[in-house]
Amino acid sequence: MGPGHPECPQRLAAIEDRLLITGVADALVHYEAPEASLSDIELAHDRMHVAALRGMSERLSEERAAGGPDYAQIDPDTALNVHSWKAALRAAGAALAATDAVLAGEIENAFCAVRPPGHHACRSKSMGFCLFNNLAVAARYALQRYRLQRVAVVDFDVHHGNGTEDILAGDPRALMVGIFQHPFYPYSGDRDPAPNMLNVPVPAYTRGMEIREIVKTLWLPRLEAFQPEMLFVSAGFDGHREDDLGQLGLNEQDYAWITARVKEVACRHAKGRIVSCLEGGYALGALARSVEAHLRVLADI
Ligand SMILES: [Zn+2]
Repeated sequence: MGPGHPECPQRLAAIEDRLLITGVADALVHYEAPEASLSDIELAHDRMHVAALRGMSERLSEERAAGGPDYAQIDPDTALNVHSWKAALRAAGAALAATDAVLAGEIENAFCAVRPPGHHACRSKSMGFCLFNNLAVAARYALQRYRLQRVAVVDFDVHHGNGTEDILAGDPRALMVGIFQHPFYPYSGDRDPAPNMLNVPVPAYTRGMEIREIVKTLWLPRLEAFQPEMLFVSAGFDGHREDDLGQLGLNEQDYAWITARVKEVACRHAKGRIVSCLEGGYALGALARSVEAHLRVLADI
């Protein structure tokens, strides 16, 4: 995204280091992410938008070879470099490969440690550090290619998952539940645009205990009633109290608790099938510890 940007390569390095130091990595099966095909990306994105992004990437490469700039700006927060197109295909490809492995019964659940994140990417627009909506591509893939009837999306990033909402609102095969700081970027989510969306906006400085109560009283009854066959998690950890990009009061125990509740729903209705994708989380230490807590619950270690 450019020098000094919070959505930086060190995020994944911090996660990887933490998993190695704590021994959690030893208990996991590691998969390399393949590139997603454009036809799979287009399950969630408008074809013209995908072509435009590709064109932008190709132009940047040509201009840079001729001494031009290193970055092409999509919006004030979001940029491309010459590697971003491939990274975006692999981020979506990770979610697809995870979906394949889970639905083949190879593994019960998966976490995709990917950049760029995805949940702000709308059907026809990249924004908010996100190029493609990795999770929505995978959710649509599970519905279209595997003919699942019901998938649930859980989003606990500090920001509203407006892109996922844009792609899945009105699709009765999907239920999305979200909790996020509001009013806050991207300033949406104050109402539910369709019956399959449950947005829970909360004010800045909401504490972990209050968020757990909301999960218990609002999310869980909807998820239980929906009886999803598979769950997708937009795992953003920027609601951590140490993260300066948001002002929520979550900590790693809260993330573990939320993950455990989601896993219970998955075990009851979905044979435990969960694909979780990294979204935000910019305080590197807090991000790494939170991912560890998330994975300890998912992997039961
Ligand atoms: Zn976020």
